Amino acid sequence: MVNPRPLKLRSQIAPAPAGDVAASLPIARVWVDSGVYHLDTPFDYWVPARLDVQAQIGVRVQVEFGKQKHEAIIVNRLESSANEGSLKPVLKIMSPVIVATQKSLDLISSVSSRWAGAPFDIVRSAIPPKVASIDSDFAIGVPHGEIPIATPDTYAEFKLPQSLSGAKIRAMWCLPPHVASAFLLAQLAFQRSKFGQVLVVLPDERELLRVHRNLEALGLGDQVRRVDGHLLRSERYRNYLEITQGLRKIALGLRGSIFIPLEPNSTVIVHSEGSEHFYEPRMPSWNVRDVALLRNSQEDISLVFSSYSPCLEVGRLIDSGYLSMISSAQRVAVSAASQIQAELIPSRIFPAIRKDIQLGPVLFLVPAKGYGNAVLCAHCRNIALCDCGGRLLQSASSTPPSCTLCQLNFANWRCKECDGSRIYIASRGIDRFVEELGRSFPNFPIINSAGEHIVSQVEDAPSLVVATPGAEPDTDAGYRAVVIVESLRFLAHSDFRSDERMREQFFSAASKVSPKGHIFIVIDDSHPIVGALARWNPAPMVRRELKQRKELQLPPYSRFIVLEAATKEISMLHTGLLMAQKERRIPENTKISTPRLGASEKSSLSLTCQLGDAEKVVDFIHELQRRRSASHKSLITIRVDPYKLA
Ligand SMILES: [Zn+2]
Ligand SMILES: [Zn+2]
Repeated sequence: MVNPRPLKLRSQIAPAPAGDVAASLPIARVWVDSGVYHLDTPFDYWVPARLDVQAQIGVRVQVEFGKQKHEAIIVNRLESSANEGSLKPVLKIMSPVIVATQKSLDLISSVSSRWAGAPFDIVRSAIPPKVASIDSDFAIGVPHGEIPIATPDTYAEFKLPQSLSGAKIRAMWCLPPHVASAFLLAQLAFQRSKFGQVLVVLPDERELLRVHRNLEALGLGDQVRRVDGHLLRSERYRNYLEITQGLRKIALGLRGSIFIPLEPNSTVIVHSEGSEHFYEPRMPSWNVRDVALLRNSQEDISLVFSSYSPCLEVGRLIDSGYLSMISSAQRVAVSAASQIQAELIPSRIFPAIRKDIQLGPVLFLVPAKGYGNAVLCAHCRNIALCDCGGRLLQSASSTPPSCTLCQLNFANWRCKECDGSRIYIASRGIDRFVEELGRSFPNFPIINSAGEHIVSQVEDAPSLVVATPGAEPDTDAGYRAVVIVESLRFLAHSDFRSDERMREQFFSAASKVSPKGHIFIVIDDSHPIVGALARWNPAPMVRRELKQRKELQLPPYSRFIVLEAATKEISMLHTGLLMAQKERRIPENTKISTPRLGASEKSSLSLTCQLGDAEKVVDFIHELQRRRSASHKSLITIRVDPYKLA
């Protein structure tokens, strides 16, 4: 393996400037949208006098790069350049509108170092594409009207925790039960807008629309702008510029909005901070939580994470005192009973649930979509398998079991062990739960909300509402009861985050209960989640899990980096990394795993390093990738602190 050391790149050489050069700060330093990984350092160009006024930091320009014309963004204006005398000129201004500030460019730069990526790949997520027809309204020097001040006309004061009202805060807010999270977030956004702008980053469009509706209900519609990618391009670009230029107070966005420029003293609110939606799937794979923390360390802003139960990374920062914890601990009525046979609702809690259904809607939280996700022989409990080795599932009560791999149907299924012909559904999905619950609680309407068919709102009338996590319908007055069935199955996909995810799912569903309602959970009553829900306090569970992680030096107490490469190259990559470690170019106590050979052409390996060594290790990988790019090798996939540790 070649020793990765910073590449020396040739500057873009051209004949000495002809014509007038800008009188002051004649050099523009730019990031070029070259699409080439290793050409990720800034390049210098000279600014013609005629472009001087418009060629500001954060403006998109066109430059000649190699032999082609490329878009670029100005990241600095300088008095001189190391390559002065041999620079090419900025060719033209692509758009006179400033789309990034020094602060937002600094953030993009830090993110590219932290996640070993090229800055322009982050620019693409952070800044919406320009729309020429919108530009003319926002160009430099265009006068704007008076900026309206946020004063809702139907303002209903809601008392938020005192600690959320400080001018400068950095906190994790564990949300209370019985009040819709979107209502709380709208109140928080409004109350923080007294200090500056407010950005609310949400995990999905559904949650974003809820918060938007709540802000509109407060009479703040005119102050709020969505900046997410579900809008029309022109609308998104206009909204982005209105926020960037300080013309609106509150921005609502998804993942990419974490980069939007904000005024000093603004507040960034990240809701549901542990959500997988906050992880960028493309390279570089940054995540909203960690970008928000970086941003908080570089800018004069307040930062609030909100959810029902903090993820482990946030838990660690509460533990260390970096984030303050705002708890909503209170008593909530919780009853637990474990499944004895295969009965869906244990008899101990059945009568109480039936009583609640008479009074209003009852929410049943179920662990899976589908119908029968695993099929057994009803007689001998042998797992039903296809000849190809695939497991059978049943997609609806009226259809025969079919193979999950080859889709073959088994209309006349026979057990291979005992020749029995009756099947038993072992891994119930929501459609099966709906059937069984309908039989257990007859004569009530049943509402099924999951997957592509999410019901947004249910009436305050007796009904069974069956939903998977995240698909729970809203109610006006809260559910009479929330029942979590087959609780242990929520932990079935055991991974690094299964406990963390379960806590958030259970608390989030349970929060929808009315103040007089009850929470029922089908699990052994000694399970710690029962006490956590009853006290509305996930902190002891989080602390216990963190203690184990710390002892084992697992994330979040170490940094985890997954490298994915072509299977035929993975062992060479592995050998190279071991060699680099021997030569102390990778810190000694970094653990380098043996390659995990993938089923396809891709295989992976991982590095686990101490937090203090992380920068050094990531820099090494970053430089390694630049080397590969420069020598036309295929790029490896780099994931620093991924959602899944696999
Ligand atoms: Zn059998
Ligand atoms: Zn098959």
